[in-house]
Amino acid sequence: MVNDLNEVLKYADNQREFVITLYREFIPIKALAPENGGDGEWDRANYLLNVVRKYFDEVKVIEASDNRVSRGSRPNIVALIKGLDMSRTYWVIAHMDTVPEGDRSLWSYDPFKATVVSDTIYGRGVEDDGQGIVMGITVGKVLRELGIKPPINYGLILASDEEVNSKYGIRYVIDKEPNLITGRDLVVVPDAGNADGTMIEIAEKGILWVKVTVYGKQAHASLPELGLNAYRLGSELTLEIDRKLHETFNHEDALFIPPKSTFEPTKVEPNVGNVNTIPGRHVFYIDCRILPKYNIDDVLKIIKDTASNYCSSHGCRVDIEVISRDDPVQPTSADSEIVRRLSKAIRVVRGLEPRLMGIGGGTYARYLRARGIPVAVWMTSKETAHAPDEHVLLTDVINDIKTVVVSLLTEP
Ligand SMILES: [Zn+2]
Repeated sequence: MVNDLNEVLKYADNQREFVITLYREFIPIKALAPENGGDGEWDRANYLLNVVRKYFDEVKVIEASDNRVSRGSRPNIVALIKGLDMSRTYWVIAHMDTVPEGDRSLWSYDPFKATVVSDTIYGRGVEDDGQGIVMGITVGKVLRELGIKPPINYGLILASDEEVNSKYGIRYVIDKEPNLITGRDLVVVPDAGNADGTMIEIAEKGILWVKVTVYGKQAHASLPELGLNAYRLGSELTLEIDRKLHETFNHEDALFIPPKSTFEPTKVEPNVGNVNTIPGRHVFYIDCRILPKYNIDDVLKIIKDTASNYCSSHGCRVDIEVISRDDPVQPTSADSEIVRRLSKAIRVVRGLEPRLMGIGGGTYARYLRARGIPVAVWMTSKETAHAPDEHVLLTDVINDIKTVVVSLLTEP
């Protein structure tokens, strides 16, 4: 249907100036969630809306009310270019919000200016998820300017709130409009990837964060028999739980990196302020990343049973609290159409063999997969998200645009 794909790819190659201009205009407009000390995404969304309206047939905003920000809502932009078959859509879903710049002294460039140094662009959010934004918009521009009607609709969603928990972002969008994205659609989430663009993420582990509070008895450090050292008990319990979890949930799945479930004791809360007091309370946290074959309730049960057994034999008391829980969802099938289309496009554009993978991190693909929508999480990434000197290579951005165009326009 497209007579000359090479023509289209050449046109995409010529979008470097457009990409740079786009970055230079929206990177200085901050888009931080209130949890991160910001006023939401509306300023950036208003700029992007003007750009998107030039290239898409239909554009709307789904607003999620949020009284913590001055506009009273968080914007989610939904844009569509109509295809020959209008019953299906190829979606690119990116997020507009970013995390703060972090320690400014660690940056070599102003985080809120997109600085171009030969093929590299630096700035907070240029990768996460500016790369997805720029890719998604530029694909629309290429289609529009070449007068190409894609075989199915091409849709772009620029969502809010990904960096916190997507409550006002993609989760709100799919709750509010459950028929917007369906299981027949094709979805790419450009929000994680590897350096040569060969990794297609099709699965994510479940995530469980648990807070464990051990209560002993505070006393003078010189008279331990009068107290019950919650720090010592908590430390032993930490290792006990750690051992039990690793022993019980030891299955390996080669799709995932790393291939096993992971269980890591992480944060410890401060206890007493002075050296000569035995702490009566010890609080620690465990980060669990769980393979989809396991049930989070079973993991929780092991933690609870281990803790209560330990405390009943040591005279302490223990509280277990779930801080955050994302149950593992069924992975996207390796044979799904979006994976096949993207794989073929990676071979055509990059000349490389794609690799399907599962990760321990979480993207909002999980919310879509939970509804039976196949999702490929993919982009080319130097993995500098959230770091100082976050950057992308212009060549990678252009190659990603070409890859998505090819996967949209050609049969798998
Ligand atoms: Zn992101």
